[in-house]
Amino acid sequence: MIGPVLRADETVLRANIAAVTARVDPAVLMMVVKDDGYGLGAAWSARVAVAAGVGWIGTYDIPTAVRLRAEVGAGPRLFAWVTSEDAEIDAALRAGIDLGVGTRDYLTRVIARASALGARARIHLKVDTGLHRNGLSAEEWDEAVGFSLRAQALGQAELAGAWSHLAEASDEEDDLAQARFLAAVRRARDFGAELPYVHLTASAATWARPELRGSLVRVGAFCYGVRSADGPELPGIVPAAELTATVLGIDGDEVVAGIGSFDGLPSTLGGRVQVGTPAGPRTLRSVQLDTVRVAAWDGAAVGDEVVLFGRGGSGESSPTTLAEEIGTVGEEILCRLTAHVRREYR
Ligand SMILES: *Cc1c(COP(=O)(O)O)cnc(C)c1O
Repeated sequence: MIGPVLRADETVLRANIAAVTARVDPAVLMMVVKDDGYGLGAAWSARVAVAAGVGWIGTYDIPTAVRLRAEVGAGPRLFAWVTSEDAEIDAALRAGIDLGVGTRDYLTRVIARASALGARARIHLKVDTGLHRNGLSAEEWDEAVGFSLRAQALGQAELAGAWSHLAEASDEEDDLAQARFLAAVRRARDFGAELPYVHLTASAATWARPELRGSLVRVGAFCYGVRSADGPELPGIVPAAELTATVLGIDGDEVVAGIGSFDGLPSTLGGRVQVGTPAGPRTLRSVQLDTVRVAAWDGAAVGDEVVLFGRGGSGESSPTTLAEEIGTVGEEILCRLTAHVRREYR
């Protein structure tokens, strides 16, 4: 069965990165490439970003960051923020990965491993601003800062930053979170921490709320051209990938195109969205196990291409527009694409 192809476009990714970089100036962009680069490929994304001048890449987990170190060389900073096992900490220290640290236990272990390896851990302490997901509470903060500064004096650590993550549920909540965050940053600086990198915002708040940006911003979705569900259109931000399927046959007033058996396209999209065809937009009638059925067009032929989502050039919707139809977010449409979907890069 002929599967679909995800075509990722370097020119578009670079243009999105340029738009985000210009928008956030003088803050610095950390491009987040988690979930295998939002489905497009973390290694490809990181290479393109670094070639475009991005100095920071964010990965969520350490193994991905270590793998990307080999892709991008020694220069760029790589930030991994999930609490990890000691073996992974060791790998991160050897590869010069910046670590997000949000618990006392993790801080203790990171510094113990740095001491054991004779390495210097680059640490970004995470502030719990009320999400209670991960992060140092106000009660834990002073001790963690003091501990980090002592390790810094011993050459075991570099206290590179402070960070947190916003809920982005309401402006009021985000304002409150920022106030707590900045209070923690001020206290740390009172203790003598320099904290050159202060980062709080992801795509939506970075774009729309400059007053929340720190010296660094962590942006994934918007770099890939994925706008927020139910959010505004973004000037200069365009989907960096399109998903195409090949027409396998014509069945009455429907065209049948192959999507392999990747199980990545929500079947609930059937009847709800337009896809791109050589004749312009047509209704996606249904999503089946390994095919999609699309309202036929005059002259439809086997081998034609249907664009399931993309930039709109053939009448197709963006990932976010598809997502909105079924009550989810554009990132989910991309991240559901499994390894069975062939990636093409241009
Ligand atoms: C996913 C994530 C980001 C990037 O979010 P986008 O909305 O895709 O820009 C930033 N920081 C953290 C901690 C994340 O988990």
